[in-house]
Amino acid sequence: MACSSVKMASKSGCAQGQGDVLEDWTDANRKAWEIEQAWSLLEQSSPTVYAMRNGWRQQRYEQQGGRCLYCRQHLIRSEALAKIPNSLTLDHVIPLAKGGPDTFDNTVAACHACNQAKGMLDLGEFSTHPIRLQRLTAANTPPERLSADEKSPYYSKAALDREVRVFFNERERFDVHEYSVTEKWILVPAGKSKNRFGQPLLIKLWGHIRVQYPSELDDLLRAGALDFPPMSAASLEQGG
Ligand SMILES: [Zn+2]
Repeated sequence: MACSSVKMASKSGCAQGQGDVLEDWTDANRKAWEIEQAWSLLEQSSPTVYAMRNGWRQQRYEQQGGRCLYCRQHLIRSEALAKIPNSLTLDHVIPLAKGGPDTFDNTVAACHACNQAKGMLDLGEFSTHPIRLQRLTAANTPPERLSADEKSPYYSKAALDREVRVFFNERERFDVHEYSVTEKWILVPAGKSKNRFGQPLLIKLWGHIRVQYPSELDDLLRAGALDFPPMSAASLEQGG
């Protein structure tokens, strides 16, 4: 990324327009970062503020099933100061630096990576941010091959718990025991036939395989589990 360092980029002949945009973006983010630093200092120096924020953080974490609202990746709770991309943070949906209120309604649990990338952006802007989309894709892609048989090396409880939907030639199937997307096959029971161990006889069908997780954000919104302003929810959905 030759143009990622803005001050240098504008001198070293990066396209002018791009430099301008990047410059605005970094300035805005630097400001957001400074404000965030000031707030975390306040959090550190004031036990009351810390306790309040921490309460919200834990509450949002529970409500969102331990996942980042923006990218749906699993959040890791840690008191350590050094944060990793999946560390649990509390994010203000409308940034404080843009006049967003420091209230529970304006907060969500977000991963450190999304929180940093979001900076001064509002939800609509952040919904199409490359970092969010990249993390969302990674979190929302079921394994390339998956087996429902516990003894198989392709078994994954985490993936099965999320109820992978399998489409065979664009028709959803509910009887799939195993699939492979790249090898283009599914294993399904052959009628009611059983083998001598009483297990269903499986046959392999070849065709186009598409797999996906159900849209959890939709489910959460429908269940009313998230109670920040409806406007925010709508703009996030469009981006996802
Ligand atoms: Zn995230």
